[in-house]
Formats: sequence, C-alpha cells, structure tokens
Amino acid sequence: MDKKAGSIEIVCGPMFAGKTEELIRRIRRLDYAKKKYLVFKPSIDKRYSNESEIVSHNLRTCQAILIDSSSEIEKYITSSINAVIIDEAQFFDDGLIKVVDNLADLGIRVIVGGLDRNFRGQPFGPMGNLLAIAENVTKLTAICVVCGEPATRTQRIINGKPALENDPLILVAAKESYEPRCRCHHEVPSK
Ligand SMILES: [Zn+2]
Repeated sequence: MDKKAGSIEIVCGPMFAGKTEELIRRIRRLDYAKKKYLVFKPSIDKRYSNESEIVSHNLRTCQAILIDSSSEIEKYITSSINAVIIDEAQFFDDGLIKVVDNLADLGIRVIVGGLDRNFRGQPFGPMGNLLAIAENVTKLTAICVVCGEPATRTQRIINGKPALENDPLILVAAKESYEPRCRCHHEVPSK
C-alpha cells in the first residue's frame, strides 16, 4: 500500500473569531472534493446545543458525532476516511494529542478547531501541545470590544465583573458572559 501523508491543521483563536465558520468552510471544500470525513465534538458542548451538529454564528451547520473521550475517535476510523474534523478541542482530554498524531500518521488530514487560551489567557486543555505538533496553524482574531483592535483573548465576566484568576473554569449558577478583548484590555484580576 502506498503511504500517503496526513497532516494536522489547527483553527484557533478567542471566542467570536469565526473558528466554526472556518471549519465549516473547510468541510464544504471536502464535500466538493468528494472526500470522506467525520466530524467530532465533545459531548460537554451539549450545554450550548442539544443537537449533534456544529453551528457557526451565521447558522451554517454540519452533522457531528458527540463523544465523551478522545479514545472514542479511533473506533470510527476506517480506511476510506480522508479527513477528521474535531471542534471545541479545548474541552477534550490530553489523550487527544496522541489520537490526532496517530490519525495523521495513518495519512488522514486532521482539522482541529478550538480556543487556544482559557479565560486566564493560558493554553486551554490539549490545545498548546496540538499547536506544537501541527503542520499548519490558523490563528483567527475577533475584535476587542474596548478598543476595536484585533482580539486574541476571551474576557470572562461573572456577575458584571472580570472573572478572577482563581475562579473555576465551570461555575454553576453564576451569571456569566464572554467578550473578545486584545492583550491590553484582557483583565484577569488575582483577587
Ligand atoms: Zn483592546
């Protein structure tokens, strides 16, 4: 069997940067090229949408397989699969790094979308390592709500104030919102 080269592509950035739109754009191109592909997203995302699809802000959608763990991906892979798309990759376990690397070694084009930074501005989940092993990285920006410059970070706001550095990533029963901000206007108070 001829060995074909796989690859890892990352589409990352803060919230509101159009990551899912970019993933769907790449998926449409796979459709036009008549490639076989699978789309995965973490089941944690059910908090935002009950549907097993990825939805961009302009409401373009694509069917996705919901999984709880990165270890579930490989059992869906057959020799006819050309590409694998993984959305919201920041919510996956660190096992995703090895899974993605293995898929690329099998000759599969792997496209990973996710937030590169958490609200503290630090690498989010497995994204830091995935960025290091990727062949191709697209960092998208949003627009800072304070100054209008490109935003590379996600500001987390809890009950109207910037979230504190030691606030847990998941807070039950708090009024939370998120906005895109630049490096200057991203606030992470420590107390
Ligand atoms: Zn700004």
